[in-house]
Amino acid sequence: MKRLRKCSVCGEYTMHQEHCGAATITSYPPKYSPEDKYAEQRRKAKGGSK
Ligand SMILES: [Zn+2]
Repeated sequence: MKRLRKCSVCGEYTMHQEHCGAATITSYPPKYSPEDKYAEQRRKAKGGSK
């Protein structure tokens, strides 16, 4: 599984270690995000009303 990296300079997604002369950053996996937190609360509220 290849990890997509992101250029912090131009914001372009790349698989290269460097972009625009700067080191790229690894994009975080969508495992933990603030949206998940809200989704969990909505799911909990929905399940409780059932
Ligand atoms: Zn770039």
